[in-house]
Amino acid sequence: MTAPEQVAAWTDLPIRPDLAGRRPYGAPQLEVAVRLNTNENPYPPSAALVDDIARAVAAAAAGLNRYPDRDVIALRTALAGYLGHGLTSAHTWAANGSNEIILQLMQVFGGPGRRALGFEPSYSMHPMIAQTTATQWIPAERSGDFRLDADYARTVVRQHQPDVVFLTSPNNPTGTATPLDVVEAVCEVAPGMVAVDEAYAEFARDQKATALTLLPRYPRLVVIRTMSKAFALAGARIGYLAAAPPVVQSLQLVRLPYHLSAVSQAVALAALRHAGELLSSVEAIRAERDRLVTDLRAIGLQAAESDTNFVLFGRFADRRAIWEALLDRGVLIREPALPSWLRVTVGTAAETASFRSELTSLVAGQPDVVLP
Ligand SMILES: *Cc1c(COP(=O)(O)O)cnc(C)c1O
Repeated sequence: MTAPEQVAAWTDLPIRPDLAGRRPYGAPQLEVAVRLNTNENPYPPSAALVDDIARAVAAAAAGLNRYPDRDVIALRTALAGYLGHGLTSAHTWAANGSNEIILQLMQVFGGPGRRALGFEPSYSMHPMIAQTTATQWIPAERSGDFRLDADYARTVVRQHQPDVVFLTSPNNPTGTATPLDVVEAVCEVAPGMVAVDEAYAEFARDQKATALTLLPRYPRLVVIRTMSKAFALAGARIGYLAAAPPVVQSLQLVRLPYHLSAVSQAVALAALRHAGELLSSVEAIRAERDRLVTDLRAIGLQAAESDTNFVLFGRFADRRAIWEALLDRGVLIREPALPSWLRVTVGTAAETASFRSELTSLVAGQPDVVLP
């Protein structure tokens, strides 16, 4: 057992000065009845998929004395097939969650003396990974309704000349999709790489508005995807990207040898064989999300338009009090980096109903709780 005073002393270690005083990323993982704080898919894998995964893992286990395929060819081929748009294994790359994809990108295209820019509020791991790779982070702002327009984005990128631009579409924590003309405008003027984080692409209302369609025109565009959200596979840690083959080749410079375990590769391949079934929950989640936006507005709250599996809502005079009161009632949601707003993941119909009724009882008939 480690004594508490020893634990407290880690900050006295000779860590890099730029990491001193920083806190680890992470939403609370609490054992409550209704967990709606990390945008997971609420539907667990079916018995048939669990069986298929178990068989695939058993087959991989028989060869675990050997290193896995370092180039991850079978999985990259399957991912290219899933994405379509004429992509091949040469255009795709996979890693331990899209967070590792982002890390590898920043190791190659960011780093000391380089700068990355994002439009905030957005996914907080982008600046966090910029920081850990010693890349200077430039926070640009979104407009009041969380949107981006092409002229503004173009101006900001021209002005700052960043080595990497992050566009999150649909965006987390706001839920808003970024129109393709904005991505195009950024690609036209960006001096370096443009990374479009499409972690929530499958939940978007306009399925055609994916940056995958722009890949043939922009050799420095990268589209980041994940199996953690729509694919209901957060526990397996599989993220991937699509880009021109030279971009994929450049990532080989920084990837650790054998970074993606044989077990992970087998699990992801088994899951992709069940893609249809896994994605069937997406339709239900989208319908539930649209209902939730309407219902939140009906009780006098603002709710942002959402193309994701979560809804940003507010605004609250004391959002911490609302978050805590919900937690006391067994419903865990998220306090995003956007003061006075809260974010709720769309769960099963039953989970979302619990959230809705608990929140309604906290808000209804109490006008002081809600900001105009
Ligand atoms: C959830 C999320 C991810 C997913 O990260 P994984 O490492 O693939 O689980 C990536 N980007 C955004 C914007 C997200 O919200």
